Amino acid sequence: MDHSGGVMTHPAPDVVIVGGGVIGCAIAHALAGAGARVTVLERAGIASESSGAAAGILAPRLHATAEAMFALALESHKQFGPLVESLRAETGLDPEYIRSSVFDLAHDEKDEERIRDRITWLRETGHDVRWLDREEVLEIEPALEPGIRGAYFDTDAYHIHPIRFTNALAQAAGRRGVRFHTGAEAIGLERSGSHATAVRMPTGTLPAGHVVLAAGAWMRSCGEWIDTPVPVYPARGQILTISAVPPPIRSIIYAGDAYLFPRVDGSIVIGATVEHVGYDKSVTARGLSWLLGSIPSICPALAEAPFERAWAGLRPETPDALPIVGPARGWANVTIAAGHFRNGIMLAPITAALISRLILEGVADPRLAPLSPDRFASWEPNSDQQ
Ligand SMILES: Cc1cc2nc3c(=O)[nH]c(=O)nc-3n(C[C@H](O)[C@H](O)[C@H](O)COP(=O)(O)OP(=O)(O)OC[C@H]3O[C@@H](n4cnc5c(N)ncnc54)[C@H](O)[C@@H]3O)c2cc1C
Repeated sequence: MDHSGGVMTHPAPDVVIVGGGVIGCAIAHALAGAGARVTVLERAGIASESSGAAAGILAPRLHATAEAMFALALESHKQFGPLVESLRAETGLDPEYIRSSVFDLAHDEKDEERIRDRITWLRETGHDVRWLDREEVLEIEPALEPGIRGAYFDTDAYHIHPIRFTNALAQAAGRRGVRFHTGAEAIGLERSGSHATAVRMPTGTLPAGHVVLAAGAWMRSCGEWIDTPVPVYPARGQILTISAVPPPIRSIIYAGDAYLFPRVDGSIVIGATVEHVGYDKSVTARGLSWLLGSIPSICPALAEAPFERAWAGLRPETPDALPIVGPARGWANVTIAAGHFRNGIMLAPITAALISRLILEGVADPRLAPLSPDRFASWEPNSDQQ
């Protein structure tokens, strides 16, 4: 079906997805699982942008509680276990999906007030999260900075290796018949009335029964192709790893804007800055200094850990920090799936499931309504959103 309810002449829609990040690959995997014939066009390589730079924390009750996103994030959280199992079975790849408790440390009264408010709200809505006093925190994680007042504590969190996860999605999608063209940049759409008929590339065109635009922080260009604002802009995240074997901590530890957690390979991930500097992916002295400077107030035992590496990625941010997911305005067969900002790994399974239903069955899940591209029909950027 197309968005206008028309029946397409193909036995299953030919869907072309622009973007081979976690969102494009998850959608390809879901669509192919439902029988669609799918091609992914990726300008660089699979997971070469934000999806390859992410930390991979899956803790929806801590960082996806915005009203329009929370139910979707919880649903996505539930889908990870079965999805990872099927990816392992289909590909033999291990995305390092690890269960872990998550703490959000309170260092002062203001932190404590903010955290306790969140806990109260979550508990009132039926979530089993708790405030732990200093002694209780240190009993579980003795290497944490002893001057803390206490912490938010949630045992239902995970982390996953984002590159392995995205590659596993792509490989499994490939086994389901999805064709991946890497090094293939899309530069526009061919149209006939309200229908996209093909995706344009510098080398020619690729016919398409349906087009999904999942180009991450580069979605503004796609907006120009479809003549409608798609206000996604880059938010640089710098992130690094240090080495600690055995790791002095087991959990995901947040402290304000900084976080750290141990991966299975003995590295400790420390993230992440949020900066509006356009499409600049540099790792900077200021960024490194902020990240490394967070260590003593979280886990002083890590101060002597050897530095491993640092990198940066461009998160796809939107003006209201919510993804933009749904039919493109004025087009019968173009769907947008972008702007997942800090939550794209976490939201990939549910985004893929809902987009697949939307395209193949014409069912627009009501939970997608607040994420509709239409909310930005008359958007103008400010200076942070370039
Ligand atoms: C430091 C950091 C930490 C993060 N931590 C987390 C976390 O812990 N948990 C979480 O859930 N999320 C996290 N994120 C956010 C997450 O990485 C993103 O939300 C997610 O990866 C977005 O996926 P995407 O597929 O939309 O974008 P991308 O991964 O950027 O993929 C878009 C792809 O489209 C391609 N493309 C663009 N234009 C074109 C074109 N014209 N033609 C063809 N291809 C094109 C690009 O090359 C790119 O590969 C983090 C991000 C960063 C940077």
